[in-house]
Amino acid sequence: MSLVVQKYGGSSVADAEGIKRVAKRIVEAKRNGHQVVAVVSAMGDTTDELIDLAEQVSPIPAGRELDMLLTAGERISMALLAMAIKNLGHEAQSFTGSQAGVITDSVHNKARIIDVTPGRLRASLEEGNIAIVAGFQGVSQDSKDITTLGRGGSDTTAVALAAALDADVCEIYTDVDGVFTADPRVVKKAKKIDWISFEDMLELAASGSKVLLHRCVEYARRYNIPIHVRSSFSGLPGTWVSNEPQGDQQVEHAIISGVAHDVSEAKVTVVGVPDKPGEAAHIFRAVAEAEINIDMIVQNVSAASTGLTDISFTLPKAEGKKATAALEKIKATVGYDSLRYDDQIAKISLVGAGMKTNPGVTAQFFEALSDAGVNIELISTSEIRISVVTRADDVNEAVRAVHTSFGLDSDSDEAVVYGGTGR
Ligand code: ADP
Ligand code: ASP
Ligand code: MG
Repeated sequence: MSLVVQKYGGSSVADAEGIKRVAKRIVEAKRNGHQVVAVVSAMGDTTDELIDLAEQVSPIPAGRELDMLLTAGERISMALLAMAIKNLGHEAQSFTGSQAGVITDSVHNKARIIDVTPGRLRASLEEGNIAIVAGFQGVSQDSKDITTLGRGGSDTTAVALAAALDADVCEIYTDVDGVFTADPRVVKKAKKIDWISFEDMLELAASGSKVLLHRCVEYARRYNIPIHVRSSFSGLPGTWVSNEPQGDQQVEHAIISGVAHDVSEAKVTVVGVPDKPGEAAHIFRAVAEAEINIDMIVQNVSAASTGLTDISFTLPKAEGKKATAALEKIKATVGYDSLRYDDQIAKISLVGAGMKTNPGVTAQFFEALSDAGVNIELISTSEIRISVVTRADDVNEAVRAVHTSFGLDSDSDEAVVYGGTGR
């Protein structure tokens, strides 16, 4: 008997109707002879609503308590889903992340999974149950406190369970028909990708294509778990993410896999930093000690006459307050002039392994942006990606311009969005 792990995102279980629809799909997999573990996210925008609520009672909520609050969202959907399955005449049991054996480090709000001990899930499956697991949560090995895995973390829960249970496939059900060449909410002419390598998917995910979380793809690559991203609304075949295409999975030998955009980051500029060794180290040590992950960094050319320089970096908006608080504390010791915080930015990235061997890609990318009248503020590259920061207002136009320029537009408006608010 084969074992499948299925994950249903918030938009798939947004209301009672959605939960009943998902329950039917799970029961169908069970009827087809599979053992099924279903990982669920919180209903609709519950997580965002809980964060808003927390911020109303405390501007920087305590990490441990925020995790306690947020994990409630997934508990609600797991219990309702188990009830809906039982109502269809099948046995189901729901489990919190901790009960399912998801063991993490103790970094609240973005814990990493360090071990998975799914003994209770195995026993439940052996008894003939469908096992429902709350995504996005675990328990710290050291403190025994409840943790969350960072936004979108249910994807990681699903892949980690698939690896630990030696599942044949991890199916990620969402509100679009798979991974497209750009976000279907922005580009109606985006094309569905039949197969994409872990490598390209990692870069797309890291660049903001939130259809799959970066850590989930990392995990899947490490344990070689094929992922099938598909819609819980349409039932159409979706996108396979794996090392090698299998069977009739279509491979486009395009230079570019897709265009990603990200509006979840902000830019911090430390103005007037003394241009001498050790200052950048000092600044980024303070940011690291606040457990903030940064993305792009630029330091401008210092004006020789002043001996001062500006350092800008990007980081998740959600960590903006923490970062500026940490930098304020070292203002006197570093001796910088001021801090600037800008959350009206967007990052646009072009991803594709074919870039390595095609020298004209960067120029074409910048030309497409310039033709669209979009100004570039920061640039960073990897072997298979180019990213720029622009004004947030320009993002949709920029993504469409780049998509068209690289010949990625489909002939039809096939990119359907079935649900969700895009929040
Ligand atoms: P879920 O609630 O199922 O986890 P998410 O909102 O996290 O769903 O992810 C699905 C969304 O990802 C889609 O609705 C779409 O707007 C967005 N998205 C961004 N980039 C892409 C892409 N390249 N292909 C498909 N969807 C994308
Ligand atoms: N509910 C969590 C979030 O909104 C986790 C997830 O959906 O994957 O980020
Ligand atoms: Mg998601």
